[in-house]
Amino acid sequence: MSERTGRGILDRLRGDFVLGAEGYVFELERRGYIKAGPYVPEVVLDFPEAVKELHREFLRAGSEVMVALTYYAHREKLKDVGRENDLERMNRQAVRLANEVAREGDALVAGNICNTWAYDLQNIEASSRTVRAMYEEQLTWAVEEGIDFVISETNDYLGEALIALQVIKELRLPAMVTLASVQPSQTRDGYDYVEACKILADAGADIVGLNCDRGPETMLPIIEQVRQSVSCYVAAQPVPYRTNAQAATFESLKTDNGASAFPLALEPFLHNRFEMADFARRARSLGVNYLGICCGGAPHYVRAIAEALGRTVPASKYSPAMELHPMLGTQVNDKDKAFMGDWKS
Ligand SMILES: [Zn+2]
Repeated sequence: MSERTGRGILDRLRGDFVLGAEGYVFELERRGYIKAGPYVPEVVLDFPEAVKELHREFLRAGSEVMVALTYYAHREKLKDVGRENDLERMNRQAVRLANEVAREGDALVAGNICNTWAYDLQNIEASSRTVRAMYEEQLTWAVEEGIDFVISETNDYLGEALIALQVIKELRLPAMVTLASVQPSQTRDGYDYVEACKILADAGADIVGLNCDRGPETMLPIIEQVRQSVSCYVAAQPVPYRTNAQAATFESLKTDNGASAFPLALEPFLHNRFEMADFARRARSLGVNYLGICCGGAPHYVRAIAEALGRTVPASKYSPAMELHPMLGTQVNDKDKAFMGDWKS
C-alpha cells in the first residue's frame, strides 16, 4: 500500500462516495499523443509529462483516484504497434507517473487491467492461461511500483473478469471489477450484466459495476438493478455521450450521414457538464458508491460532479462566476440561473 494516503479505497467507500476519473486514452488521443485504432498508451514513454498533466487536471477537478495508464498496455496490444519490448517499461512508468501526481494531493493509485482480446470462448482453457499470465505480469510490476487497489475494467467476458479478480485477490488488493456493456443485455459469454456482477461480488470483488460503452441514460437502468442485487460497493463510469433507446452504446451512435460516430466523430453527442452533474446526482440517489466517467471524460465534468455532490475541489477556485461575465452577467434570466447555477451548491 502507498504510504502517502491515510485512507484506502475501502475506507473511503465506507464513509462516502469515491470520485474517480478516466478517459485518459480518448483525451490523450485528442491531444495528439495516442494513435486512434490501436489505442496503445505509448504516450507513457514518449510524452510522460502529458500523462502527468492530465492526471493533475483530474486531481484538481476532484478525482480521488489516479488510474495508472496501462489500459491496452498489455502483450497482445503492444505487439500490434511493434513495442512488445517496451511492455515492462511502459507498465512501470505508468504506475510511477500516477504515483507522482497522487502525491501532489490525497489521491489513491489504481493499477489498471482490461479486456485483453486474448480470451477465446472456443479455447477457454488455453486462452485463460494466456490471459492470466498477462494480468499477472502487469500487476506484478504495478505492485512493485506501488498501487492501492486494482481496477479491472471494460470486461467483455465474465470469464475473463473472473480471472482478473483471482489475480487481484492473490495479490491481496481491493478489487474493482467492471463490465463493458456493448451488447444489449449480456456479456459476450452469455451472462446477463446484473447476474455477472452478482457472480463477481460473490467471488469476492469489492466493487462491481459497469464502465464505458453506455452514456448515463442507458447505463443507469442496469446499474439500478445491479445495486439491488449485490451488497458490495457499486461503480458506474459511463461515457459522457447521449446514448438512447435506439443507440444504447456509443459504438452504435451515427452521424447525420449514417456513418459511425464512434470513435472519432462523437462530439455532437457529448453531454454538457450540467447533464453529467445530473447523472452523478441520480447515481448517488440509486446508491452508487464509485462515480466516474470513461472514454470522453474530461476535467470539467469531474469538477461539475464533485461540486454537484457538495465538494469543493482545487479547481473550484476557477469555477464559473457568470454574474461577472461582461455580457451575460446582466442578461442572465431565471432559467439560465437554474441551468447554470444548480450544480453550484
Ligand atoms: Zn471507456
